[in-house]
Parts: sequence; structure tokens; C-alpha cells
Amino acid sequence: MNETGAMNGTGVMNGTGVMSSTEVGRDTLIGMPPWAIVLFYVLTAAAIGIFAWGAWRLIRKYRQGRRDLRHRPGPAKLVSTAFRVLGNVTVLRDDLYAGIAHLFVLSGFLVLFVGTLIVLVDRDILRFVLPSWVFWKGDFYLGFSTFMDIFGLVLLAGLLMLAVRRAFFRLPQLDYRHRFREEKSRRSMTAGDWVFLGLIFFIVFGGYALEAVRLVAVRPEFEVWSPVGWWASDLLRAADMDAGDASSWYPLFWWAHSLASLAFVAYVPWSKAVHMLLGYFSLAWQDETLNAQLPRALENDAAGYVSFKDMTWVELLALDACIRCGRCQSRCPSSVAGLPLSPRDVILELRDAAGRNGNGTGKLAGDVIPQETLWSCISCYNCGTHCPVGVNHVPLMVQLRRALVSEGAVDEQLQQTLINLQRCGNAMGQSDRMRAKWTQPLPFTIRDARKEEVEYLWFVGDNASYDPRVQEYTRTVAKLFDAAGLDFGILYEAERNAGNDVRRVGEEGLFEMLAEKNIRAFEKSRFRAIVTTDPHSYNTLKNEYPALGAEYPVFHYTEVLQSLIEQGRLLPVRRLGARVTYQDPCYLARYNGIERAPRELLEYAGVDVVEMKRRGRDAWCCGAGGGRLWMEDIPTKDERPAEQRIREAAGLGVDTLVTACPKDIVMFSDAIKNVGMEGGFFVRDVAYYVWESIEQPIPEHLEKEA
Ligand code: SF4
Ligand code: SF4
Repeated sequence: MNETGAMNGTGVMNGTGVMSSTEVGRDTLIGMPPWAIVLFYVLTAAAIGIFAWGAWRLIRKYRQGRRDLRHRPGPAKLVSTAFRVLGNVTVLRDDLYAGIAHLFVLSGFLVLFVGTLIVLVDRDILRFVLPSWVFWKGDFYLGFSTFMDIFGLVLLAGLLMLAVRRAFFRLPQLDYRHRFREEKSRRSMTAGDWVFLGLIFFIVFGGYALEAVRLVAVRPEFEVWSPVGWWASDLLRAADMDAGDASSWYPLFWWAHSLASLAFVAYVPWSKAVHMLLGYFSLAWQDETLNAQLPRALENDAAGYVSFKDMTWVELLALDACIRCGRCQSRCPSSVAGLPLSPRDVILELRDAAGRNGNGTGKLAGDVIPQETLWSCISCYNCGTHCPVGVNHVPLMVQLRRALVSEGAVDEQLQQTLINLQRCGNAMGQSDRMRAKWTQPLPFTIRDARKEEVEYLWFVGDNASYDPRVQEYTRTVAKLFDAAGLDFGILYEAERNAGNDVRRVGEEGLFEMLAEKNIRAFEKSRFRAIVTTDPHSYNTLKNEYPALGAEYPVFHYTEVLQSLIEQGRLLPVRRLGARVTYQDPCYLARYNGIERAPRELLEYAGVDVVEMKRRGRDAWCCGAGGGRLWMEDIPTKDERPAEQRIREAAGLGVDTLVTACPKDIVMFSDAIKNVGMEGGFFVRDVAYYVWESIEQPIPEHLEKEA
């Protein structure tokens, strides 16, 4: 900001070097010797030229990316994104302090930027072209001066808040140490952040100083409408600066302010400041559906992302929009557990690999991003959910994994699991004839949806079918469906793994093969809707199968149970009075927004839920997703995500963690053992409590038999 409240303005001096003022308003550049005026415009042109060069290099890079064929924002999204950005929504929602500071900086910066444009139009265009239209004078000038002065203070306050946060808060997300390349020094990043803050601070603070010096030199009474400058000039006068001193100091202050402002213009496209331009485009063009519904492998990227040119232009732009805020990293369960992964570092490494000019070389998967890093991701989507500039990390990771899988760069355990899935249709490598063995202890027979029409096709899932730690809960769900008289059936040996995690491992061909087999079984069956026990299957059946031609209504079993209770077909009669906490499965809550149904079921059962701080879309992951359950362990520096979660849950003073996901049951059962809490802490499925609470009639067919 300058004395006018604008960022590139100048002072007011008469031709003799003594400042004066007559009417309400202010001229810029008057009093400057001709050589200085010429030099100023030459430097302005140079700054704009450097800005344009930087911008062109970025555009040229994005033009090397693939076209985004799937997502094109309409006018409504373009407008709503503008409001999101102006309202600072993406920063405020996760960090109130940083959000307020950023809001101050953003609003102050925008007001001063627009103020600068107004001065530019008035002084440098209208004054020469249409002098009668000059408007930066009189009452407008006075109101403008006050407005600019106040927003300059707002901007300074925001900058100070950010500087204090950076210097004293010691936040983990501001720790730039590399998570998977020990040798990399990140000091330039810290320095870059301070240069960015410092440069804006210098411009704004220098603007006030310039204004104060001018108001010591010339002191028209109407300038009390510039309250901050007026007050600062009083300070200078109290420090014995007189009009003559001020007039001599003025050019120095003017040049310092002007040069800093021009340097900032030139610096924007070459630095972190570029997010001011790219953040909007990244958010507006972000395809939020891309995480739950991964892109299909196209002819030209069947092997995933090998070089940066395989990325879409939106992905390349999003890399540059990253402000390295670290929100993704501090919320990444793998990163916090000390696995060699940081979503921020992945983005920054890919950005470096693409090069500012789009001249990057090198193989992305394995070279730029180490294999271990890629295999550490559990596809929990906690990173992308919290990214303020709309980076979609999960689809990028999967594209890189596709490249690894196509080279056969997978560990032995995963290799074996993929073979199991190919041969047997399940991750355990068990016979498909054993898939429905869990039903045998039931006192009734579940119908075969391939042979008779049912209302609900129950897609049971691998873990719920085969894992002995989960089977009892699967039977409980069956008993509940039966008790409610639900018209349901299963596919028996025709069901295959739904493929959600196969796809996230990067094995696109196998995913399509499994999906095709399931879809063929669906086509041979007659049903109205699908219900599934497994949130991972839920995600792919609901969001990804439609693109393969299988479009059915899909429900999670908690939604169906909730509806059965609401219809009065299941009657909770006992208040169990238990106190538990609830774990939101990632693929239920974060990916698909299902948070209420499981909690309401627990409420119906009279179970008190003590909530963990990280819940719903912010929930901590169990660590099983993205195929991690099928891979060899990668050593961690800290406790694994599920172990951390068990301690968090136990810290609430409850002894049970309830969930609605078979993989959670498996992961948390192991974690309880690992942290030595076996026998003192339990993991249970929501279905257990619903069953315990309901009036349990003897099923009709059993009554008949009796
Ligand atoms: S990717 Fe997003 S959340 Fe992560 S550091 Fe960059 S801007 Fe922040
Ligand atoms: S999806 Fe989860 S594990 Fe993977 S990088 Fe993001 S936060 Fe980390």
C-alpha cells in the first residue's frame, strides 16, 4: 500500500521539490523529475514483462498435460468457487486461527489491489484520455483514503498473525523436513515463506511510512480521512521531523515502496505467491468425484502415470497451486505413523519433476516417488478432503501405482493376493464354494438371488464372508434382516471381491475382470437394490460400477437397518445402556457421507456414543484401505494408525470401539492385541447392539416348523 492506499502510487511534490496541496485529491508522479518518471514506467513494464513470462511458462507446461475429459465446471461452479475463495471457506473450515489470518490478508490484499487499479485507471489513463472523467478526488477520494487505510491495517494484522504462527506455534504441518528423502534440505522453503510474508509486509508498512512522510511535508486538513497515515505523521512530527526534512526523505521512501511493489508483481508467478492466481482455477476445476470414482484407464494411460505429461493439465496446475500448508501431511495416518509417506512431499516432488517450464524428465513412479512411499498410502482420502486448493492426492497415487503394477513392482504378499483374486475371486485364496459357508450355523437358509427374485441382493464382501473374526457379525446382520422380514438373498459362490481395493492398488485390469464377473451375476439375478456389509464394496458398487453398466440403488446395511426400524419392522425394546465410541469407516463417512445411520442405530439400542475428536469426514483411518491390508509391513517410526486409534478411543474412558466395517473389525482386533489391551478393550460391529436390543421374534418359518 502507498500513501494513497494503493500499491504503486507516488507522492505529491511541486516542481521545486516542496510539497503542496490545494484541492481534495492527490496527484501521483507530480514533482518527480522526468528521468524518474521515465525510469518508473520502464521498471513497471519490466515487472509486468517478467510476470507475463512466468505466467506463459506455466501455461506452456499445462498445455503439455492431457485434456481433462471428465470434468468441466459450469457457470454455477465457477461462481460458487469464487465465493468459496473470497469467503476463505477452504482455509477457515479446518484451522480457525490460520483461517482468520488468511481472511485478513486476502481481504486486505484484494481491497488494496483494487484500490491500486482504481488509481492506475484514474491517473494513468483517464487523466490523459478523458480528463473530464477523472474521479479520484473530492468525496470519493476521502472515502477511498479511509477505506484503504483501514484495510491496510487489516492486512498487516493478518500478516503478523501468520508470522507469529510460523515463528512460535511449532506446528507439525510447518515442519518441512522431507518424509521420504532424508538428504533433501528444505531451508529454501522456509526462507521462501518469510520472503513472501516479508515482501507484502514491507510494501504495506512502507506505504504507511510514505504516507506519513508526505503528511509531514504537506498537511492539508482533509487528509485526516487517512487516519493511519495522519496518526503516523503526528508521530514523525513529535520526533522533530519538519516539512523540509520530510520533503527530502520523500523520494527515498517513494522509490523503496515503488520498487518493492514492482518486485512483488514480477515475483508472483515464480513463487508460492502464484497460489493467489492458481488456487481459484485448481478449486474450480477440481473434480471432487474423482476420489470415490477413480478414472478408468484409457488407451494412452493404461500403464498409469509414467511421466508428468501423462497427467491432466488440471493436475499439473494443482501441483503449482499447492501452498505447502501441510494440512494433508498432518492428517495423513501413514505420515503420522512414520511410514515413508507425506502427501505434501509427493505433491512437491511431482511439481519439481514437472519443472516450472514443463521440461521435467524422469520416471515418476519408483524414481521421483519411491515405491515404498506409494505403497504406504491407505487411500483414506484424509489428505484431499482437507486441501485448501483442491489437490486430489488419491487419484494421483493410484495412477502412479498403476505404473508400478504394470512393471510388476509389487511385493510378494500383494502379488500372491492379486493371484488369489484372479484365481478365486477373493483375497484369501479360498474356494468360491466356501464363500457362503458362514451361513451354515444360521437357523434359516438365505435365498439364492440367482434362483429366486428378491428385493435386496446382499453383497456380503470378502472379509464378512471368509474372516472368522467377522463372520459372527455377518450372521447377526442376516438374523436382523430375517427378523425384520426383509426380502433378501445372496449370490453364494457367484460373488467376487467387488474390486474397490484392487483398483486402488492400481490393478485396473483385475478390477475390471472382477467387476465384470459380479455384473454378470447381477444380470442373472432378479432384485431391486443392493445392500452390502462392506463400505469398500459399497463405494465401488455405488460410484464405480455404473460406469461399467451396472447401475442399481446401493445401500449400506446400516441404512437398511435404520429404515427397517423406522418402518417398525425391527423393534428395539431394550435400552442397553452401554457407553462406547464409534469409528467412522473412511469409505462410509469420508467418501460417501454416511455418518448418521450407524449412530442412530446405536441410539435406538440405547447405547451412549462418546465421540472422538476426529470423526465423520475427519475420522482417523484403521490403515487397511488401498490394499494395505494385503501387503507386507513397511516399518513405521511410531504406532500404526489402528493402534493410535485404539489409544485415542480408550482415552475417552470407554472400553469398546464400535464400527460398521469388516476391515475395521480385523484391523482393530489386531491393534488391541498389539497395544496389550486384549480382554480390556473390545471392537464390535453396530449390528451386535441392534440385535441385542430388539425384540427377537421366532422367525415365521421356524414357527411353522415348530
Ligand atoms: S497438497 Fe494441499 S493440503 Fe497438502 S500442502 Fe499442498 S496445499 Fe496444503
Ligand atoms: S490417502 Fe490417506 S494415507 Fe494416502 S496420502 Fe492421503 S492421507 Fe495419506
